[in-house]
Amino acid sequence: MTTRFRLHNYGSINIDHVYRVPHLVRPGETLASREYRPVLGGKGANQSLAMARAGGDVTHWGRLGESDRWALAPLREAGVSSEQIELIEGPSGHTVIQVDDEGENAIVLFGGANQGFDATRLDTLFATTTPGDWLLLQNECNDTATVIEHALEAGLHVAFNPAPMVEAIRQLPLERLALLFLNRVEAATLAECDEKAPTEQLIQALTERYPGPDIVLTLGRDGAHFLPGRASNESVLFEPALKVRAVDTTGAGDTFIGYFLAALQANRTISECLARASAAAALGVQRSGAADSIPLKEEVERLLA
Ligand code: ATP
Repeated sequence: MTTRFRLHNYGSINIDHVYRVPHLVRPGETLASREYRPVLGGKGANQSLAMARAGGDVTHWGRLGESDRWALAPLREAGVSSEQIELIEGPSGHTVIQVDDEGENAIVLFGGANQGFDATRLDTLFATTTPGDWLLLQNECNDTATVIEHALEAGLHVAFNPAPMVEAIRQLPLERLALLFLNRVEAATLAECDEKAPTEQLIQALTERYPGPDIVLTLGRDGAHFLPGRASNESVLFEPALKVRAVDTTGAGDTFIGYFLAALQANRTISECLARASAAAALGVQRSGAADSIPLKEEVERLLA
């Protein structure tokens, strides 16, 4: 495999504390849980895992509570470089998730270590990069704007998945980024367009407003569009989603992004990147869980053969 660039992922690492309960806890109630499972999660970690499972070369930049250092093992086992993950004394980013007998859930999220990034570490992190490398970011860590500015100054290509979407994201220098990964809600917010607008209308509003970056617009079971930016030689492309029986679509976007970037890193064409990402996400949605459901490269290749 020819590696064209190195990819660094400034992203969240969450510990999802999952409790199986007979019903969601009511105000004032103390409820015994039947089962407890701590699970590695967070968009950042999921995207690094997906990229590594796809055979990509990814270094994760993030922070994790010392008491949750077990979470490094699944990342390393998948092949994620973890030397830039800082272990801290305070709590990790985490969720407390109740899942009841009907499959209904209730979630409490605490940003923890993901929100405690200290900009004095930027010099150390960027000393490990070379112009032409790529930096991937989501919006689950603090100081996103500062990290993007540094990356652009350091000559990195920036890929951004603005999730969770907030209005302030529109103030970021999105026009100077290399690649945006957007789902329908994120695209509609950026384009100031109705989320339920026909896709052609959404695409037109989005590309008029953001003609600079390449955009990958994912639309769940309605597939994914590649919308080339100003500097691209590519054409507009569409990749239909595979027809599968989805049991849990959590993390579909993360799997898609990781597989897309790993294929790009391996010098594949955009149309191949889309096909691999779409196949990987289709395999993932047929399983429950997020990180656990990200398929291995061999499974994706078998499906595409
Ligand atoms: P999430 O937030 O759940 O991680 P997302 O909203 O970021 O997902 P989607 O647009 O829902 O991302 O899905 C990403 C890609 O995953 C789609 O473009 C498609 O290729 C694949 N996908 C999602 N849902 C399905 C499905 N039901 N069947 C087949 N493929 C799917």
